[in-house]
Amino acid sequence: MQKVPYEKPVINKISAGVPDKFGMKSTIQPITEIDDVAIKNLISEYGSPLYVLSEKTIRDTYKKALAAFETRYPKVQFAWSYKTNYLNAVCKIYHQEGSWAEVVSGFEYEKAIANGVPGNKIIFNGPDKSREDLIKAIKNNSLIHIDHLDEFYEIASVTKELQLTAKVAIRVNMDAGIYPQWFRFGFNYESGEAWNVLNKIMQTPGFELIGLHTHIGTYIMAPQAYGIATTKLAQLAVRVFHKYNHHIQYIDLGGGFASKNTLKGAYLPGSDTCPTFDDYAEHITDALHQSDIPYDHMPTLFLETGRALIDDAGYLLGSVLANKRLPDGRKSLIIDIGVNLLFTSFWYEHNIVPASYTQPDLENTTIYGPLCMNIDVIREAINFPVMEKGEHVVIKRIGAYNMTQWLQFINYRPRIVLIDTDGNTHIVREQETHETMNQMDRLPEHLK
Ligand SMILES: *Cc1c(COP(=O)(O)O)cnc(C)c1O
Repeated sequence: MQKVPYEKPVINKISAGVPDKFGMKSTIQPITEIDDVAIKNLISEYGSPLYVLSEKTIRDTYKKALAAFETRYPKVQFAWSYKTNYLNAVCKIYHQEGSWAEVVSGFEYEKAIANGVPGNKIIFNGPDKSREDLIKAIKNNSLIHIDHLDEFYEIASVTKELQLTAKVAIRVNMDAGIYPQWFRFGFNYESGEAWNVLNKIMQTPGFELIGLHTHIGTYIMAPQAYGIATTKLAQLAVRVFHKYNHHIQYIDLGGGFASKNTLKGAYLPGSDTCPTFDDYAEHITDALHQSDIPYDHMPTLFLETGRALIDDAGYLLGSVLANKRLPDGRKSLIIDIGVNLLFTSFWYEHNIVPASYTQPDLENTTIYGPLCMNIDVIREAINFPVMEKGEHVVIKRIGAYNMTQWLQFINYRPRIVLIDTDGNTHIVREQETHETMNQMDRLPEHLK
């Protein structure tokens, strides 16, 4: 008989309630206010639909995530993933909390500089960095994470021409037990490609190898995958040390922690099934402590967490436009929030609730957006109370990606309001208008 391996005991709170054979009991708890500010006041002051961000939730969640890692490992640095939400107000809050910037384009790089982030606190990721972007980043001492060999050659040519040294890391893709595996970004671990490129970097003038990076995917429900990824990066660091007597300054595990949203097709809500920051931190820091990296040269741990930090802080408020009975007898509700404002509705069953107390009877309802497009469905089927035209709804946990991937389509994009930690509200992005839309149009002479 094989000896069963020892596993550390853990206690996990189960807050799923008791589902019966039909799943969870369906009750709908309205959301009438956010951080003590009434929804109806927000809508009457700023319009509908309306994005709302809670500064308190942003800061509290950040502190919780940081504590999960800092209590387990001495050197931790978060870098805010700009593409997750690059509203200036949001970026500034993270930078105030001590977060660096993680950018994936020249546009995001410019934004980070304009937000006052020093160049040497910007991580530059992604496959799309132009020669001009690279020159700027090298001159600013930014951390350039090389994605492919053409980028390596471009950097080699720039540093040679300008007599500069680039601070670089490589992005590594690997089998961490997550499928489908993301292998289109960076260099593969198992095939030896990553090790090959590290040798090229160590042997080419103009490069200073400072880090190792991976981003294994997004909405990763298995924290042990991060343990595997950390171990593989640490093995590369040890190999570099043995061959070149060179110490890697940091290991960057990227983003990908799951937020508490519920994926389409999931049986239990994401709030009950998603790992906590502590779960992720435990696997990552255990792998670092157990690695063969010399103790005096333990690397800084970088994290580029996006969705798990911001999702809970964002709300989308809207209003009922109409009720409609479909020919098959189903009830439907049309609201003023379309999928163009809620990009994540394509993979999440978003939690949508009334903004006031309704009568308790629920009916299976399809919730449509206002667009003249058949795909504009916010919820295919949800048990929902009767709501009248003009009444308000709230969609929870929409802080990640919706304010960057939104599409201007058919309607103007709405305002975004921030509730600060004292409960004051601030417009942090204005609504689009006829004027803003026309600003970029150009009419050829013969059409005037
Ligand atoms: C998108 C992205 C992130 C953030 O990912 P989340 O899943 O939102 O945490 C971090 N790093 C890189 C390189 C990314 O592309």
